[in-house]
Amino acid sequence: MQAVLKARPAAGFDLGDVAQPRPGAGEVLLRVAAASVCGTDVHLYDWNPWAQLRVHPPRVVGHEMCGEVVAWGDGVRSPAVGTRVAVESHIVCGHCEECRRGDYHVCENTRILGVDVDGAFASHVALPAANVWPVGGNVSPQVAAAMEPFGNAVHACSYGDLAGRRVVVFGCGPIGCAAIAVARVQGASRVIAVDRNDYRLHLAERMGAHSVVRASETPVDDDVRRAAGGDIDCALEMSGSSVAVASATRLVRPGGWISLLGIGDGPDVIDLSNDVVMKGLALYGVVGRKLPSTWERTTAYVRDGVIDVAALITHSFPMSDVDSAIALIKSGQCGKVTLTPPD
Ligand SMILES: [Zn+2]
Ligand SMILES: [Zn+2]
Repeated sequence: MQAVLKARPAAGFDLGDVAQPRPGAGEVLLRVAAASVCGTDVHLYDWNPWAQLRVHPPRVVGHEMCGEVVAWGDGVRSPAVGTRVAVESHIVCGHCEECRRGDYHVCENTRILGVDVDGAFASHVALPAANVWPVGGNVSPQVAAAMEPFGNAVHACSYGDLAGRRVVVFGCGPIGCAAIAVARVQGASRVIAVDRNDYRLHLAERMGAHSVVRASETPVDDDVRRAAGGDIDCALEMSGSSVAVASATRLVRPGGWISLLGIGDGPDVIDLSNDVVMKGLALYGVVGRKLPSTWERTTAYVRDGVIDVAALITHSFPMSDVDSAIALIKSGQCGKVTLTPPD
């Protein structure tokens, strides 16, 4: 089958022919219906230091996908062949201490699809039946593929109650924009979006931000306070910018909370004593999705049309043109970018 590969330890992806996977015990074989491209894929493409340490080429890349079940491995009893499914990209071990506690999202042996095992940018993929999530035929393959990053936003918003709260979202990529929509649905009274990029601020408005603030080299604290019209109860940090993290800790009122999803390239400089300890702030690190609670909520939002996830998807390319998809993402002039698999 055709697949997008990290074929060698260098920048770029290659299109290659690889053997179609067979479902092992406990696995299902999926025919890929749609995939979407993540910032992680850009790191793999660029072969950044994280990718160099983590990935062992050759590897079929890609982890955000929707598929149709076409075969079962030994011991699998569901979902039925023909079922359309979204995919949880984190394959957990089920026996480490975290898994035994039910905290699967922080499994210490997590393997990520398209990073540690062969992934989704191909015509077929085999993965544990526990990692597929039926979505129903009314959810489009593109939207179902985007449920994985959308679930990150749902997870980020789940730490505390957002009803009637003032919320600031730093970073308006697809996950930040999704978080804006989730915060609105959860009843936030005011959602302020911060980004450097006008395209993304537009998308943030479209997803329901009450006001947008253009980030610059200097902190945006005063602009955010003004736009919020009062104290900020919660910050959702999706940018990875150390300037944004510090802003968030200053802006959020005593007793409030911050969900941190963005991963920075440099050390963070925050005034822990004054801006976290003395304010009694809660900082919550968002990794993956909680299993299964995040997926249940994400599915409800998508299936019942509560949130228009399709509005987050702005471009689509054939999988063979993944280079163009990556270039567009790097330009910042897009929301979620999807890929159509080879026949
Ligand atoms: Zn991703
Ligand atoms: Zn585990």
